[in-house]
Amino acid sequence: MVTENLKQVEERIRRACERAGRKRKDVTLIAVSKTKPVEMMREAMESGIVTFGENKVQEIVNKQKILTEPLQWHMIGHLQRNKVRSLAGRVVRIHSVDSLRLAEQIQSDFARLGETADILIEVNVAGEESKYGFRPEETEEAVRKMALLPNVRIRGLMTIAPYVEDPEENRVHFRNLRKLLVDINNKNIDNISMDELSMGMTGDYETAIEEGATWIRVGTGIFGSRIYL
Ligand SMILES: *Cc1c(COP(=O)(O)O)cnc(C)c1O
Repeated sequence: MVTENLKQVEERIRRACERAGRKRKDVTLIAVSKTKPVEMMREAMESGIVTFGENKVQEIVNKQKILTEPLQWHMIGHLQRNKVRSLAGRVVRIHSVDSLRLAEQIQSDFARLGETADILIEVNVAGEESKYGFRPEETEEAVRKMALLPNVRIRGLMTIAPYVEDPEENRVHFRNLRKLLVDINNKNIDNISMDELSMGMTGDYETAIEEGATWIRVGTGIFGSRIYL
């Protein structure tokens, strides 16, 4: 199943890149493997996937004990401050930095271990009550403050767009996230040059690619639906 799904996802990515006049290599597919067993991840690896997304620190720790191959792990879920320390050295990006306090925790824990964290700032593009992240109008201020943290490198912005039936409904949000990134870059804030946009999931990744996504996070479309126990 995973192999077949990946073929279809890859074909859809390729076509979205083509429509947008973008190079395929400028979009990276993150296979979101949360709740899924390592056997399914191995199947994805056989199709060439090396980039995985998880939303719980403990699940990353457990899976890394079994999958010792050189993989790129991404933390994409809400991160509690008392879990930050366990994440050092384990992930290439933290996509879900949703408060200044969390960024400060990352600074102190990573500094102590002599590491620098590559992060994305999570933006709640549609102002949904239920979602984490900065409001768009608060984001520049957050960037300015996080820019002062020497062990935190801001690589870009991330969003979890609303759940919609028609992905076209999210186009405006993806476009606005990209605009926000460009606007903040244009302020010439010291240490800030962001070029990553983490946006698009199973339901809307093609639209996100058309609007400039550099990381897309696809779970269900690769591994099938999740059962939460
Ligand atoms: C679970 C999750 C995804 C993947 O969602 P699908 O709809 O299954 O593709 C993407 N991003 C985040 C932050 C997630 O938590």
